[in-house]
Amino acid sequence: MYEINETHDPNLKSWVESANDPDTDFPIQNLPFCNFRHRSNESGSRIGVRIGSSVIDLEALPVQKEFQWWLKSSSGPWKLDALGRLAPHSPNEVRNYLVGSLNEDADLATKELVEKVLVPESEVSFHSPFEIGDYTDFYCSIYHATNVGSMFRPDNPLLPNYKYVPIGYHGRASSIVVSGTDIKRPHGQNRSDAEKPPVFIPSKSLDYEMELGFFVGRGNEMGTPIDIKDAEEHLFGVCLVNDWSARDIQAWEYQPLGPFLAKNFATTISPFVVTMEALAPFRTPAFERDPDDPQPLDYLSDDNNLKFGGLDINLEVYIQTEKMRAENIEPHMLSRSNTKDLYWTIGQMMTHHASNGCNLQTGDLIASGTVSGKEKSQRGCLLELTWRGTEPVDLPSGEQRRFLEDGDEVIMKGYCEREGFRRIGLGECRGRVLPAD
Ligand code: MN
Repeated sequence: MYEINETHDPNLKSWVESANDPDTDFPIQNLPFCNFRHRSNESGSRIGVRIGSSVIDLEALPVQKEFQWWLKSSSGPWKLDALGRLAPHSPNEVRNYLVGSLNEDADLATKELVEKVLVPESEVSFHSPFEIGDYTDFYCSIYHATNVGSMFRPDNPLLPNYKYVPIGYHGRASSIVVSGTDIKRPHGQNRSDAEKPPVFIPSKSLDYEMELGFFVGRGNEMGTPIDIKDAEEHLFGVCLVNDWSARDIQAWEYQPLGPFLAKNFATTISPFVVTMEALAPFRTPAFERDPDDPQPLDYLSDDNNLKFGGLDINLEVYIQTEKMRAENIEPHMLSRSNTKDLYWTIGQMMTHHASNGCNLQTGDLIASGTVSGKEKSQRGCLLELTWRGTEPVDLPSGEQRRFLEDGDEVIMKGYCEREGFRRIGLGECRGRVLPAD
């Protein structure tokens, strides 16, 4: 899972010129999978691989015989599921084949074949890579958990289970949308005045949460847990997640069963699945626990997970208000955090999730929880950044924000950089807030 091979060679260049731009998220070393439609929409939804500013229409690739065994084994339009079931080996095979045929040294015949199925980004729309059956959201940043906990329970910010159990809740799959989809401000019960009964009004404290998502590739049988040693074999790849959250609804409803309507009205994902193989150069050790912290229980412990289980992915959040758009002011960066600060690894999340025999299925989305770091500039949601609205953020337009206002667009970006390797990125996850009905 963590092996660096010839597909990570930083000197590889592609004959697709836009892939050689040093700022692109999608050089030949990345090649994430996606689901797209031609804007003309003649051919329905199709599986693609992103390179530079284009998409390879995998299904139209004349040499697809090589992959027919997975294209054919699928039914319906969601063919990435069939490939996912064979993760990680089959996605890696496809990626390896494409590295060879997109390479500037590829022979002319191959180049001509692939060129025919290359579609400019401007001619397609992207859709959810999987028909997501289930969605689980964890709470794996100890900084986020401590900050949020100290707002609500100043004397006891971190609950005693936190360092033993990767905490999570079951989210809602039906309201997951892809980047670019507008989000309508939800209504809900608000009880800001503790002396009075709650009122049913549009949320006054709408927030985003910057998270890393990962897709299950190969599932596990119900009743059969996933060993921590094999956890990453069940992963297809990662994406960006915005877990939109209505803090006023959340504060009133969350006890005793956790978040419900405060979060299930919308979740936005970026459209590209960056494979675990593409991420191999950006692995880090698991979070270094405080010497006084307990070690993970045995079923969550493994040497490889300890040495390489972390991920070094930078996550940035930007905001652009209606006024900023009108005045042509660029989106303003609110935070930059990194997934290496997560207290639990993605392998531990997978293993814990299946540890009771719960069956994970191909295309399930699992998210990390808000990724926040130690510093204020690393806080991955407005609840933390503005300390529950008490310390508003100043914007270059002269405006302030405590929480999101109608017309605000939230833009999330993710990328990996390491000396000696090519930068790769996860693309964007954006969404604009529409007024409530
Ligand atoms: Mn969340």
